[in-house]
Amino acid sequence: LLQLYAPLNFLGFIYREIKHSLADMEKMFSLLGQNAEVKDSPDAIALKAQRANVRFENVDFGYESNRQILHGVSFDVPAGHTVAVVGSSGAGKSTLSRLLYRFYDTNSGSISINQHDLRGLTQASLRDHIGIVPQDTVLFNDSIYYNIAYGKPTATRAEVIEAARSAHIYDFIMSLPEGFDTPVGERGLKLSGGEKQRVAIARTILKNPPILIFDEATSALDSKTERSIQAELKEISANRTTLVIAHRLSTIADADEILVMEGGRIVERGHHRALLAAGGAYARLWAMQQQHQDIDKPVDAI
Ligand code: ADP
Ligand code: MG
Repeated sequence: LLQLYAPLNFLGFIYREIKHSLADMEKMFSLLGQNAEVKDSPDAIALKAQRANVRFENVDFGYESNRQILHGVSFDVPAGHTVAVVGSSGAGKSTLSRLLYRFYDTNSGSISINQHDLRGLTQASLRDHIGIVPQDTVLFNDSIYYNIAYGKPTATRAEVIEAARSAHIYDFIMSLPEGFDTPVGERGLKLSGGEKQRVAIARTILKNPPILIFDEATSALDSKTERSIQAELKEISANRTTLVIAHRLSTIADADEILVMEGGRIVERGHHRALLAAGGAYARLWAMQQQHQDIDKPVDAI
């Protein structure tokens, strides 16, 4: 009985976590095979794209019918560009990424990739095109090798090692007693926030998707680790269509466009300098973060 109970308990644990993080979202899809809320349409086609233009067009959305969360959200992320989303906690930032991953469908308006409405695409092909580096990566109770190779089940050992090198976690792995075979996760070695993020980055490098979503983790990391993770994220986002949910404004000053969200609406948009000069919501967030000094304080925590 204990043998049966343990995995069930583990699933329950995963399910609870899932509701809050994109990492878990990916995991639940793979565990349950599909999302109960969203079904492939019978004539859904498989997305096949090397370069992806992402478009949100007048998107309204609520998790529950009596509470609308997003109001008329429109923006484009042209292929290869980076769009950053900022705003205080609860503004609807992570909801954008859940919709792009099609965890839910919009209530009205549309989301498309290369002019294909997401609702006309198979979910498997959509998710093959998106790599997520989430706020909090939850690891499988398995080897660190498995946890990286998960990004591409057909990967060769050489590819996994290369991805670990690119994510700057190779030396750390080799310093462990069992190297890549070291068990990690709840019942294995507990990795630090920065190490877990590097595992997520290695997974994503291995997956090599045209679209990236970063839900920037900051609170869990010290600022030195954060800066080096930032550098790695920047490297892998070059030439990919990237949506960054930014907590530390200093990290997104060079984004192609910054969207400022309040209460599920985009209240301002533009480049860093123009937004500062405009003296509006973005400038206030910026001033607040400077004031709270240490760039260590994520916007969410203010
Ligand atoms: P942000 O990422 O900007 O902090 P979110 O997009 O996570 O904000 O959430 C926006 C709003 O939607 C919040 O008010 C939040 O409480 C609500 N919300 C988020 N997830 C759910 C959910 N699964 N069910 C109901 N409401 C949710
Ligand atoms: Mg969020």
